[in-house]
Amino acid sequence: MTERPVELLGLTRSKLAVALQPIIDRPFRVGQIYDAIHLKGVRSIAAITTLRKDLREQLNQGFVVGLPEVAALHTSSDGTRKFLFSLHDGATIEAVDIPDRGRHTLCVSSQAGCALACRFCVTGFWGAGRNLSAGEIVAQVYAIRFGTPPLEPSLNLVFMGMGEPLLNLENLREALEILSEEISLRRITVSTAGVVPGIEAMAGWERRPNLAVSLHAPDDERRDRIMPINKSYPIASLLQALERFPLEKGRRITFEYILIRDFNDSLADADALARLLKRIPSKINLIPANPDPVLGEMMVPPRESSIRAFQQRLMDRGYTATVRRRRGDDVSAACGQLRAPS
Ligand code: SAH
Repeated sequence: MTERPVELLGLTRSKLAVALQPIIDRPFRVGQIYDAIHLKGVRSIAAITTLRKDLREQLNQGFVVGLPEVAALHTSSDGTRKFLFSLHDGATIEAVDIPDRGRHTLCVSSQAGCALACRFCVTGFWGAGRNLSAGEIVAQVYAIRFGTPPLEPSLNLVFMGMGEPLLNLENLREALEILSEEISLRRITVSTAGVVPGIEAMAGWERRPNLAVSLHAPDDERRDRIMPINKSYPIASLLQALERFPLEKGRRITFEYILIRDFNDSLADADALARLLKRIPSKINLIPANPDPVLGEMMVPPRESSIRAFQQRLMDRGYTATVRRRRGDDVSAACGQLRAPS
């Protein structure tokens, strides 16, 4: 079997330098190649015109840029765009571009599939897949950013697509090292279902993105029912890890809380949530449940009046609480709807 060419897109500066060592004549070539890929968004080695032709030819022997073709694109009536990518082994993933008053938020995947089987999530319903490489993570951002039309580099990036980012830590870390040269870590958020060892590992990183935690229930009894991972890492252990998570001045942890009608949307639940989070600098993002045929009957969106009452109660208790407006649901691009059937 011939070896697959190395994807330049997924190499950090230092790894690129090591990989290029046998080929290049002068050290500054590393920067030339890195900038062509990460600042200009070139799609092929031939397009790195700052390089001599013979060097490009040599590079072509063992490397590719690694930007994937967009296999399908769905545009919602609200402007949200859902991209489907087909990877080299046939795995498929989705990423979403959510424009909002000129600023774009890209929602990207960290795994093709997800093993956590949360009851409210379509990705989890379809089951486990594989980890994405650092290059496959970066590629989703570039395929959109350097696409048509190209986007400004001042975007927000959220790891809230398919998969659990903290079960793919090393590739996530390398992708962030690359992406954060252009996108400030303050604009990057990694969302976890509560993988405690992953949170502890990230706490030790020198440079950290924002952290969001999918909480969704105020007690173990109910969290167990909708998130099997809670049996491994119950709420107390999760909160303990979060209390120790180092935050820069003024920064907070985001708690995502899906409101499911008559399941977790009462004022007593809001009070319980407020008590739970009182030792952690937090903001709370309420997500009205998005139903889907595969999820069964439980996922009923809350009444408009309970959303407002829940939010108001949290604000009365001193929290910042926002409601995530539903985007792209007419093309199944909304939270928990990414499935990418192959
Ligand atoms: N595994 C990570 C990253 C996925 S994020 C995590 O769990 O945080 C996906 C976000 O969409 C999470 O906050 C998730 O809880 C939310 N979500 C999943 N299914 C949903 C649904 N049916 N309705 C609304 N939000 C949903």
